[in-house]
Amino acid sequence: MNLHDRYFIIKMRSVIYNQLSAPIYKPMLKYAWQKARYNIGSVILSFDNVISVAFDIGLLPCRGDADCESVAMVNCAYCTLSLCFDHFFANPHLHFLNLLVRAHFPVSVAD
Ligand SMILES: [Zn+2]
Ligand SMILES: [Zn+2]
Repeated sequence: MNLHDRYFIIKMRSVIYNQLSAPIYKPMLKYAWQKARYNIGSVILSFDNVISVAFDIGLLPCRGDADCESVAMVNCAYCTLSLCFDHFFANPHLHFLNLLVRAHFPVSVAD
């Protein structure tokens, strides 16, 4: 894995965008517009943020598959599964229109 590799960056942004599109984050995103003084139609007083939804999980085991023995690094914002790096990012855990899609990307792209 190469953190400055263009393919890695595109993949990372795709996974982040997919997670931030989850319904649980809608109030958080509306709050940002509200704080920028846009009229969003309703007042957002509280919301679940990324830290509380995705990362405040302690030391949970990964539930990506029954054989995984890794510690989870994140909770999925859609299905609340706690997932390790491999099950969340290396083999991306993506949701589209309430469907979980397990995309199979190549490990790396040659230059
Ligand atoms: Zn999920
Ligand atoms: Zn795992």
